[in-house]
Amino acid sequence: MAEFSPVRGFHAARAHLSESDGLVLYQDRIVIPTMLRSNILDQLHVGHQGLTECRERAKSSVWWPGIGAQITEKVRTCDFCREHKPTQRWEPLLTAPLPGGPWQRIVTDLCELEGKSFLIVVDYFSRDIEIASLTTSTSRQVINKLKHMFVRWGIPLELVSDNATQFTSAEFQDFRQKYGFNHITSSPHYPQGNGAAERAVQTAKHILKQPDPCLALMSYRSTPIAATGASPAQLMTGRQIRTTLPVLENTLLPHPVSHDLVPQKDSVVKKAYKFFYNRRHSAHSLPELCPGQVVRVKLDGGKDWKTPAKVISRSKESRSYLVEMDNGTMLRRNRRHLQAVPEINNPTEQQQQAESGALQQNCDFPTSQGTAQREPSESPVLTSPTLGSPPRSTTPVRMTSRG
Ligand SMILES: [Zn+2]
Repeated sequence: MAEFSPVRGFHAARAHLSESDGLVLYQDRIVIPTMLRSNILDQLHVGHQGLTECRERAKSSVWWPGIGAQITEKVRTCDFCREHKPTQRWEPLLTAPLPGGPWQRIVTDLCELEGKSFLIVVDYFSRDIEIASLTTSTSRQVINKLKHMFVRWGIPLELVSDNATQFTSAEFQDFRQKYGFNHITSSPHYPQGNGAAERAVQTAKHILKQPDPCLALMSYRSTPIAATGASPAQLMTGRQIRTTLPVLENTLLPHPVSHDLVPQKDSVVKKAYKFFYNRRHSAHSLPELCPGQVVRVKLDGGKDWKTPAKVISRSKESRSYLVEMDNGTMLRRNRRHLQAVPEINNPTEQQQQAESGALQQNCDFPTSQGTAQREPSESPVLTSPTLGSPPRSTTPVRMTSRG
């Protein structure tokens, strides 16, 4: 179809061509001369219906050689349709492997409730929750609260947070370096990327709303969680904690949980969760984007794909890309908030590529592993100097909080 010869197109269709009242017909469709085709394409797409609908309209009205491909291109490159396209489909859920033990990987989030601010920290292994109330929302106070938690549990290998300024400040970077832990930021404006924190915040808020949040949190910490088969307290400390619920004294003695059982349970629960999640959202992977590719960005909370941008690189976070907007601003966005824009300067070639499926493949990205790219809105990820281990996986993690 590359070099489409109009004459050859007519020749192939000659059995269906006829003439009536000075018009050339293809079956009962009017054959449109070259000069008018662009305008007719506009007419076919009035109302911005989809490809099938536009083709149906053409089938009962007009024809010319190669009209099908041109309708496809028209619909595919229509700015209006692009801007108002519904939200992209969900991608399959990523589940991260369970850390090797308690307090190795933690996720933090800040939340507000009834005018008060709280720092919430959740341990990925045990699902244990720490809540600290904040009188100010400065980086300093967040650091201070984290330090106190580190006194109790030690320094984690990895801390996951969003891009709140408290976590991106120079002060926080100093703290991270001095204490020696990796800092992973989840893709901004993509809560799903920080699913564990999101769900933990809900649990924590539910706890904070109660008349005695301390009792509520203790109750949570002492309740076995289906995903691990043990209570957060048991996994964190090797023993059950005493609450207001009467128990045998023996129950409160140290009974370390077999750490082999936890990953088994966790994997079963995550598999089931992933299955239902993917089914619920009809999740499929979106095609990869290449550096230099033109995209449209759905901005924070926006409904439209209005903002044009260019892909700079893949971000080290899974499914995230670094894009540059026309005004030079760099953004990191999840793939789901980026829509590929086909180049329209060479429709024929583009069409061929699209048809051969070559359009969005063969990206020659450097792999995220081992490339220490610095990104504008987040901190670099460094290996803890005290551990000497290779950089850990930077996949955003999700987990089931309970059940
Ligand atoms: Zn349209």
